[in-house]
Amino acid sequence: MPKISFVVPIYNEEENIPKLVEEIQAVAPDLSDSYEILLVDDCSSDRSLQIIRDLATQNPAIRPLALARNSGQSAALSAGFQAADGEAIITMDADLQNDPADLRQMIKYYGEYDMINGWRFNRQDTLSKKIASKIGNAFRNRLTRETIHDTGCSLKIMNADMLKNIRIYKGLHRFLPTLMRMEGAKIIEVKVNHRQRLFGESKYTNLRRGIEGFYDVLAVRWMQSRHLSIEVKEEK
Ligand code: UDP
Ligand code: MG
Repeated sequence: MPKISFVVPIYNEEENIPKLVEEIQAVAPDLSDSYEILLVDDCSSDRSLQIIRDLATQNPAIRPLALARNSGQSAALSAGFQAADGEAIITMDADLQNDPADLRQMIKYYGEYDMINGWRFNRQDTLSKKIASKIGNAFRNRLTRETIHDTGCSLKIMNADMLKNIRIYKGLHRFLPTLMRMEGAKIIEVKVNHRQRLFGESKYTNLRRGIEGFYDVLAVRWMQSRHLSIEVKEEK
């Protein structure tokens, strides 16, 4: 397997970080001989950055990256993507709701596919969040002519070259399958485990996500309609 970069955006997740790193390191050697863990602190106001720094001093696989201002999940991910050295990039939330053990199944598709997107078929979230997500996915799929069940599942494996070509704007982390497809990616969804958030809080409300998502879907639709698919026939 190629070198892997784990990229995890972190905003006020102090209780979750040590366990997160432990869980990532429990599976990482099964995925690749070579990996790095980019922990991107999105200017947390709790002790997250200090915890990341402390872990990094004991653990050479950890690369801390700290943003100067709280810039949002898309920005934290984008900063991580640009800094990543791996040929494949794996993302997940820092909140321990994703189970890195699922990566053992997901990685089998890498190579044949350029993007493997998790699908939380048994979600451990509030009913209102599950309903909002169903509506969001249906709406997004309809307008962007997609069939992705769970674009919001952060557990993803992606080809780094393709991912680095994408210019990510605020909110666009919710459209990574569509944006990757525009880069030519072959995509598969794999059902994954999902757990309750035990520590820290969700950073979004359904209303905020709904309003932002509605606005963003129009932008992505526009991108799709104006996408340039260039094939050079001759060049001297
Ligand atoms: N996050 C971030 N910056 C923000 C908001 C969130 O880096 O401004 C991180 C957060 O710490 C988590 C991930 O992005 O690792 C997703 O956030 P959250 O779990 O709160 O969202 P949800 O899963 O509830 O949609
Ligand atoms: Mg989360």
